[in-house]
Amino acid sequence: MLLFTPGPTPVPQNVRNAMSDETMHHRTPEFEAIFEKTRKYLFELFKSDEVIMLSSSGTGAMEAAVVNLCHKTLLNVNSGKFGERFGKIAEAHGLGNIEIKNEWDTPVSVEAVVEAIKNNPEIDALAVQISESAGGLRHPVEAIAKAVKEINPNIMIIADGITAVGVEKIDITNIDCLIAGSQKALMLPPGLAILGLSSAAIEKIGKGKGYYFNLATEIKSQRKNTTAWTAATTLTIGLLEILETIEKNGGLEKLYEETKSRADAVKASLEAIGLHIYPKTPALSMTTIDDENASQIRKMLKNDFGVNVAGGQDHLEGKIFRINQMGLIPPYEIAWVVNSIELSLAKLGRRAYNGEANRVFNEKYFRVGV
Ligand SMILES: *Cc1c(COP(=O)(O)O)cnc(C)c1O
Repeated sequence: MLLFTPGPTPVPQNVRNAMSDETMHHRTPEFEAIFEKTRKYLFELFKSDEVIMLSSSGTGAMEAAVVNLCHKTLLNVNSGKFGERFGKIAEAHGLGNIEIKNEWDTPVSVEAVVEAIKNNPEIDALAVQISESAGGLRHPVEAIAKAVKEINPNIMIIADGITAVGVEKIDITNIDCLIAGSQKALMLPPGLAILGLSSAAIEKIGKGKGYYFNLATEIKSQRKNTTAWTAATTLTIGLLEILETIEKNGGLEKLYEETKSRADAVKASLEAIGLHIYPKTPALSMTTIDDENASQIRKMLKNDFGVNVAGGQDHLEGKIFRINQMGLIPPYEIAWVVNSIELSLAKLGRRAYNGEANRVFNEKYFRVGV
């Protein structure tokens, strides 16, 4: 079965092998050496002033960011389940909360954010997804961050990059906290989250807030290549292995280029067979199709063609399907995915099969050179 869900993504064989070694104690020079090397790679990936690894799924890092960087009122952008989550975190911690809500196919506008900031001077942090995975949407985060900082540079910008870090180059000039999670573009099992922090963020964190997710405690430890609590040793070893693998494969720039050409080629190929892209501003992390036969197509892909893609949640259940584009994906796998979708449409009697999806995919993807 080909796993093509936008998280979890498949874990490469060499990474699984690296993680299968005997358990290592976390308070040892051996593990500290691995931690140090991993941190160096993470600085290249995030380009931030500090990086922190947490043993938790991505939501833990979202909570850590909100608790430590928002002391009064959080403005969150809700164009889907993950954006909504930031508001729920603020509420759970008794923080003020203002939300800008849109349909799941609609990105937030810079103007709407600027207006909210101007009308609510108590806002001290903004939280937004770079890629909102609920509908495969790209928010204009860089432009929003710039506009917000022009109004008030003290407002902390928290960018959830869980389906963006490792997908595309992100301009962090105006971003104070960039979040990544292990099971998406980093091709690892779930359980590790990473935060990239600006020096302004570190200043605001001060002594930190909370206990397990107190970022001041972690910053102090991780600068010494150790963690406050027991490190996710196995996942850290896996993270180092995947970051080395990316480097061996031509580095981050090549990964970004390949991801973009693959996402563009899949989009063009599915449009060529009459399918519709759901989000108005598609992210590169996944291709989201809205279709009246979405559930049937998903079932056929799984049962007849060995391809597992994700569906939709809440009001989009049965209405969309999402195809992963994150990570190191062999072209023959994604070529089979688009072909399987065309075969499914033929089985549904929607169009006669003529290989058009693969023709367009190949033409677009391989035109850039092999
Ligand atoms: C997957 C994901 C998360 C985190 O979810 P966890 O299940 O806690 O790992 C957060 N934001 C986005 C955009 C995601 O795709």
